[in-house]
Amino acid sequence: MINILQSVPLAQYTTFGIGGPADYFVIATSKDELVEAVLYAKANSLPFFILGTGANILIGDKGFRGLVIKNEAKNITIHNAQVTAEGGVIIADVIAKTQQIGLSGFEHYAGIPSTVGGALWQNLHFLSADRTYTEYIGSIVKSAHILQKDATVKEVKADYFEFTYDWSILHKTHEIVLDATFQLKQDDPQTIQKRIEENLKWRNEKHPENAVKTSAGSIFKKLEGYGAGRLIQQVGLSGYKSGGAEVSTKHSNFIINTGNATALDVRNIIDKIQKTITDQLGLVLETEISFIGEF
Ligand SMILES: Cc1cc2nc3c(=O)[nH]c(=O)nc-3n(C[C@H](O)[C@H](O)[C@H](O)COP(=O)(O)OP(=O)(O)OC[C@H]3O[C@@H](n4cnc5c(N)ncnc54)[C@H](O)[C@@H]3O)c2cc1C
Repeated sequence: MINILQSVPLAQYTTFGIGGPADYFVIATSKDELVEAVLYAKANSLPFFILGTGANILIGDKGFRGLVIKNEAKNITIHNAQVTAEGGVIIADVIAKTQQIGLSGFEHYAGIPSTVGGALWQNLHFLSADRTYTEYIGSIVKSAHILQKDATVKEVKADYFEFTYDWSILHKTHEIVLDATFQLKQDDPQTIQKRIEENLKWRNEKHPENAVKTSAGSIFKKLEGYGAGRLIQQVGLSGYKSGGAEVSTKHSNFIINTGNATALDVRNIIDKIQKTITDQLGLVLETEISFIGEF
């Protein structure tokens, strides 16, 4: 049974800590509740938005006119080397469970805030253990159950998602991941643990302190051959401020909420960076994060 709330501030549900109220808000704790919430939105002609850990979005200061469905469907089952996780499962929880039993595949994403649904939506990625290539979550997806536009459930294989850098077909179809099955590999738990620790150490060294509570990670997609952070540094915008938001001086592709930033402050910085990069370098930086609701 779902419990629809009204006028719920969304800042607390995002890693940026920014965002106005949702007119309607519900926490779905199972696949069935998630479907029920979507049907409720459809029956009441409400626009709806599926929220994971809110780590790749900027929600506008005026909030969201419709129903925000926070996905906390968290069931995980493991058979041999296959893991099936509901869309609201936190990636850190899968990492902990699979490391313990010597299953490798998720450890590359240690330290990244994400649900399974958000990870498939954006094809979660990080550098390989030897740092020579990029690991994508799409490469371990075997199949998934998705809720289609007409509210029917379909089982799809990995290729359905057309995973590429920062992209899956979900950007186009806006279908919802109910659960996904991943194919992992047997490995030594201690070796996996070592990779986790090295990834966490890397993040500690390169990312701004407390980034999981004050930012949405990298704001811009990388360009072929250029890291966005380096370009931002090159045009002198490292440390640039607008209101309570500021470009990190440690990693310039991060914008930090220093305490009282508004969505508009962040938008101002994004606009300033994009304009400066184009004017000075003739390059176009695209955002990796999504803008949700009214600004
Ligand atoms: C400090 C920090 C570091 C980061 N580092 C990385 C990194 O190294 N690599 C990387 O790839 N990303 C990184 N990110 C970005 C972010 O963690 C990922 O994009 C993550 O996958 C977002 O998942 P989420 O659950 O928070 O999704 P949300 O931000 O809540 O939502 C993002 C999108 O996914 C959609 N969505 C969520 N659940 C579902 C579902 N069940 N079905 C369909 N659509 C759904 C939402 O509707 C929305 O459009 C970082 C972010 C932070 C804050």
